[in-house]
Amino acid sequence: MEDKSCRVYLPGGGQHHAQPNRASGFCFFNEPALTVHTMLEYGARRVFYLDLDAHHGDGVQDAFAYDDRVFTLSIHEDRRWPMARDGSSAGNVLDRAGGKARNIPVPPGFNDTELDFLTTTVVLPLISDFVPDVIYIQCGADALADDPQSKLTVSNLAIWQTVAAVATEVPKLLVAGGGGYNPYAVGRCWSGIWAIMNGISIPEKLPKEVESCLRAVKWDHRLARNAPEHWFTTLADPPRNGLVRKIIKELAEAVLEL
Ligand SMILES: [Zn+2]
Repeated sequence: MEDKSCRVYLPGGGQHHAQPNRASGFCFFNEPALTVHTMLEYGARRVFYLDLDAHHGDGVQDAFAYDDRVFTLSIHEDRRWPMARDGSSAGNVLDRAGGKARNIPVPPGFNDTELDFLTTTVVLPLISDFVPDVIYIQCGADALADDPQSKLTVSNLAIWQTVAAVATEVPKLLVAGGGGYNPYAVGRCWSGIWAIMNGISIPEKLPKEVESCLRAVKWDHRLARNAPEHWFTTLADPPRNGLVRKIIKELAEAVLEL
């Protein structure tokens, strides 16, 4: 792999649940696992995989268990699918998959301030310690407050901020999509990631033609019955700041101590 800066954005990727012998959780092929394998084949020495999807990045963690070249860190909702066979949540804080995996199972109500706290106190220090030459970020949009699949409540601002902070850590970065079940929230979140990666400032109001495009999207879901205006008129969500709860601080400490 040539030693120069490279930024790749793959919103259609991030299918992190697929296993080598079966599809799983809406994922047929495991794009992140196949991509990271390809990076290693083409000369990457150490790859850091950060998973921000509301669900545990189980397929990628499994693919690189006991492989010291790949560090996987998943921040996901506690006790949400995929569950382990004994009924406990997969990706618990002690789950290390042979060493180079860390998991932060966060409680419902996870907010922007808490994601920012974890980015500063856990994500960036773990990246610094590992010294990767490539970082892959899976940016599933189902941790957003507007998404119906999880009880996490971050805004797209917090996801953009984490991507921006991590992007400064290495010259080679791949950002992918992932889960996301509210079409308005997904489109706005992932468009904003594209802007962040390209240094484009995000307008306060979307142009009228973009607004009409969003209003033309039909989503047959109870959440769409009283759709808030920001789904159509702005790219940025209202911020969802809050307290950093004790459990979040304890999780951060526990992960760093492993
Ligand atoms: Zn998901």
